Amino acid sequence: MELLKNYINGKWTDGPSGETSNVLNPATGDILAKVPAGKTAAAEVEKAAAAAHAAYLQWKDVPVLKRIQPLFKLKQLLEQHSAEIARLITMESGKTLAEANGEMQRAIENVEVAAGAPMLMQSEYLENIATGIDEYMVRQPLGVTACIAPFNFPAMICFWFLPYAIACGNSMIVKPSEKVPLTMMKIFELIDQLDLPPGLISLVHGGKETVDAILDHPLIRSISFVGSTPVAKYIYSRGTANGKRVQAQGGAKNPVVVLPDADIEMSSQIITDSVYGCAGQRCLAASVVITVDDNKQIRDALYASAKNRSIGYGLDEGVEMGPVISRESKSRIETLIGKGISEGGSVLLDGRETSVKNYGKGNFLRPTIIEDLPIGGELLHTEIFGPVMSLLHMKTVEDAIAFINNGTYGNMACVFTSSGSNARKFRNQAMAGNIGINIGVAAPMAQFPFSGWKESFFGDLHGQGKHAVEFFTQTKVVVERWPKEWSRKF
Ligand code: NAD
Repeated sequence: MELLKNYINGKWTDGPSGETSNVLNPATGDILAKVPAGKTAAAEVEKAAAAAHAAYLQWKDVPVLKRIQPLFKLKQLLEQHSAEIARLITMESGKTLAEANGEMQRAIENVEVAAGAPMLMQSEYLENIATGIDEYMVRQPLGVTACIAPFNFPAMICFWFLPYAIACGNSMIVKPSEKVPLTMMKIFELIDQLDLPPGLISLVHGGKETVDAILDHPLIRSISFVGSTPVAKYIYSRGTANGKRVQAQGGAKNPVVVLPDADIEMSSQIITDSVYGCAGQRCLAASVVITVDDNKQIRDALYASAKNRSIGYGLDEGVEMGPVISRESKSRIETLIGKGISEGGSVLLDGRETSVKNYGKGNFLRPTIIEDLPIGGELLHTEIFGPVMSLLHMKTVEDAIAFINNGTYGNMACVFTSSGSNARKFRNQAMAGNIGINIGVAAPMAQFPFSGWKESFFGDLHGQGKHAVEFFTQTKVVVERWPKEWSRKF
C-alpha cells in the first residue's frame, strides 16, 4: 500500500517514518493509501518552513504581474484534470461526482479572482498631507504562510487561501486533512509543473503533531485554518499567542426559516438539497428548518423530498447522496439521533441502520428528520455534520430570528419567502455572516469573503477575494518629503 510522500522544496520526499493512518474510501471501506502520522512531523515542517522562507525571499520582489502568470497555467491544468481530481474527491470523501465537480469549479474560481492581484493589491496615496509632504500605503507580503484544511472539501478549501497567498508574494505550506490527502497529492503533481521557486508551495501530511509544529514554527507568519470549532479555537489561541496572524473558520448549525408565503415546491426542494447534499457534511448545510405559521404543506413537502433521495456510492449513476466520512462519524450521528429522541424530539424519518446493496462496508445513513426538539435541549445547538434535519415550528418571523440570534454559531442563516419586507428584516437582523434569501447554501463566490460569525469564525479577515488579499499582506505607510533646497541643481 502506497505511503504518501510530502512535497518539500520542490521535490517529493518520504514523510516521517513510523506511525501511519489509513486513507479509506467511505463508500467501499477500501484502503486507498497510507498517510504519515508520525511524531517526527516537526522535522518535516522545519524543512518545509526553511525552504518556504528561502523561496519567499526570492518571490516577494518578483513583479505582481509576473507572479500571477503561474496562476493562469494552474487554472488551465486544474481544468484539464478536473474530472480526474473530482473522481479522487468522491473516492476519498464520499460526496457524489456532481458535488465533486461543483467543488472543483469553486476552487478554480478562486484562482481566477486571485489573478486580479495587480488591481487588488493597489493601495492609497494622498498628496500634500502637509505642505510638500506626501503619504502613501503599500501592501507587502507576510512571508511563509500555512493552510490547514478539513476533510469535507479536499480540493476547494485550500483555494480560499493558496492562490491569493502566492499572488501577493508569500510562500505557503499546505496541510490537508489526513482523511482525504489524495486530492491534494494530485493537485501538487500539477503545482510541480509550474514555474515557481522550489519551496514556494509545499505539502506536509499528518495530524495534530504536524499542526502543532506549524503553530509553533517561528518562520511561519500566518495560519489559515478551516475545521471544527474546538480545533479552530485551539489554532486561534496557540497561533496568535505565538504572534501569528490567524483566520480560523469553525463549525456551524445553520437555520433556515420558511415563511407561509414561500413557494412550497421550490423551497422544499432547495432546502432538502441543502440539508442532505454532501450527506450533510457541508459547513453551509442547513440543519435546523423552522416553519412559520401554517406548516402542514411545507412539512409534507420536506418529508417527501427527503424520503425519495437515492443513496449510494458517489461514482455510480443517479446517486444523490453518498456516505459520511467514517465509521466513527456514522456512529456519532446515530447516537445524536438517539439523543434527540431522548430529549423529546419525534422522528418523522429515521435514517439509521441503513445498508446499501454491494456496499456493505460503507458508512451510509439515510435522510433523517427529527421534529419538535426542545429549544433548550442540547441537540438543537450541537453540530451533527450528517444528513439530519431538525424541524421546528414557530409562530412569527421574529420568534425565528430570536432563536437564530441565541445560537452559538453564525455561519449561515436563510429565509424562504415572497415578501420583500420580511426578507429585508431577516437579512438585517439575523446574526450570521452568510445570508441566503430563497437560497439554501449561501456560499459566497470567490470575489466575496466567506463570512462566518460567532463560534463559526475566529479572527478578522476571512478567506477569498479582497479579504484574502488583505490577510496575506501587511500594510506599510510612507510619509515622504523632498525639500527643494536639498535637490542638486543641474
Ligand atoms: P477537524 O477540526 O477535525 O480537522 C480539521 C484539521 O485540523 C485537519 O487538518 C486535522 O488534521 C486538524 N486537527 C484535528 N484535530 C486537531 C487537534 N486536536 N489539534 C490540531 N489539529 C487538529 O475538522 P474536520 O472533521 O476535518 O472537518 C469538519 C468540520 O469543519 C466541521 O465542524 C465543519 O463545520 C467545519 N468546516 C467549516 C467550514 C467553514 O467555512 N466554517 C468549512 C468546512 C468545514
